Amino acid sequence: MSSPLMKSKRILVWFRNDLRLHDNEMLVEAIAKSEAILPVYFFDPRQFDHAGFHKSSVLRTNFLLESVADLRSSFQQMGGDLLIIHGLPEDHIAGLVEQYGITEVYHHREVAPAETRVSANVEDRLWKIEVNLKHFIGHTLYNKEDLPFPIKDIPDVFTQFRKKTERDAIVKACFDAPTEIAFVPSEEWGQLPSIEELYAIAVAEANVLASGLIGGEQEGLRHLSDLLRPDSNIYIKVSARNSDPSGFISQLSPWLSLGCLSPRMVYWRVKAAEERFGNNTNFTNLILGLFKRDYFRFMFKKHGAPYLESTTLVLEADDTVSNSSFEQWKAGETGHALVDGYMKSLAETGYLSNYGRVLAATFLVHVLKYDWMKGAAYFEEQLVDYTAASNWGNWKCIADSVSGLKSKNGFDVDKYLKILNIPAVA
Ligand SMILES: Cc1cc2nc3c(=O)[nH]c(=O)nc-3n(C[C@H](O)[C@H](O)[C@H](O)COP(=O)(O)OP(=O)(O)OC[C@H]3O[C@@H](n4cnc5c(N)ncnc54)[C@H](O)[C@@H]3O)c2cc1C
Repeated sequence: MSSPLMKSKRILVWFRNDLRLHDNEMLVEAIAKSEAILPVYFFDPRQFDHAGFHKSSVLRTNFLLESVADLRSSFQQMGGDLLIIHGLPEDHIAGLVEQYGITEVYHHREVAPAETRVSANVEDRLWKIEVNLKHFIGHTLYNKEDLPFPIKDIPDVFTQFRKKTERDAIVKACFDAPTEIAFVPSEEWGQLPSIEELYAIAVAEANVLASGLIGGEQEGLRHLSDLLRPDSNIYIKVSARNSDPSGFISQLSPWLSLGCLSPRMVYWRVKAAEERFGNNTNFTNLILGLFKRDYFRFMFKKHGAPYLESTTLVLEADDTVSNSSFEQWKAGETGHALVDGYMKSLAETGYLSNYGRVLAATFLVHVLKYDWMKGAAYFEEQLVDYTAASNWGNWKCIADSVSGLKSKNGFDVDKYLKILNIPAVA
């Protein structure tokens, strides 16, 4: 039972990549431990432009805007709102605490260096006014304390991580979405910024239709339900768009990346569908993907920034390779039909199947011998589902793992395609 003292609290709930009501422990706890909450979202300028180039494509920014609008609409239906601020969290949170009489701030902890730095900056500002920043972990299938090993002993090999975790740990039940919320009153909740306001430099018209995906918790839940129906044709539709030889693409990643869907919710819905309709390879692959997602996050948690620096490929990038090869790769003009098709599709839709990503990354690193970090930065800009740990972690793995396939005659991409079981023509 909560004490009267605890109930006099006003908690600021700082939303980041957790744009949902379902399975949101941070939100549930904030409601339980306060008299009222103030939900806040920051459009952080660093996410959109950085030193004159885009950090996020217009497609991803659109998906984010839709997702924030959806969260706002959910709060409005409950008689409240979402405070929207276009600015740096570290510049505003302490002021909001004073303006609204906030007693504690809640947020989800991230893992990549740029993201944890923002939390540290906010924590420093709050520390000066003696307000606590409470950290939650709600991005993974498994909480770190539920893993069968301490973070420092997590196996670096994915299959070992998966097997041990699957055998010895359980996936917790989801938290229910709140049905009632008391909101801190506010006169001004702020406008959703426009695309033009978010980018300091001119942007091309967003090709939203090409992506075909709509951001937000409601759309994410709808997509998941459609996907798990026995007569679902989503696999077929998205596979046709991406010519993926595996035949399986759930395209859940954009919603998972922004936290519009919780991985635990996806897991338990897949398990329920398995019970009803029987198991199939699509369900198995989906769950396998969730394990990979956890694995890359935990690798970041275990090793921090040196995780990326440790790769051998940083040393192997060939300085003499001209930037024009990189530009051709980005434009889909390398001359390799499959790679070019995938790269054009990435620029057009903001999405690539895992096969497409593996092939495009392998080609840049091993055929063009270009710095993999620049390729990863380009993917960061383009992908609608960009997630720091998944993107940089996968790039690092490709850079490391296929170096053994090189012969003295150079890297044979078509031989590699055969190993991956990817047909050599699109
Ligand atoms: C070079 C490279 C860069 C990548 N960058 C990203 C990224 O920025 N964001 C991102 O979410 N994924 C990234 N991935 C992983 C993977 O390609 C995508 O998650 C997947 O293609 C998304 O499509 P889907 O939702 O149809 O996946 P499905 O195959 O349906 O899998 C279900 C879910 O599992 C997770 N998942 C599946 N495979 C992986 C994987 N290899 N690593 C991590 N998670 C996985 C995703 O959340 C995905 O939505 C990258 C892979 C490579 C090779």
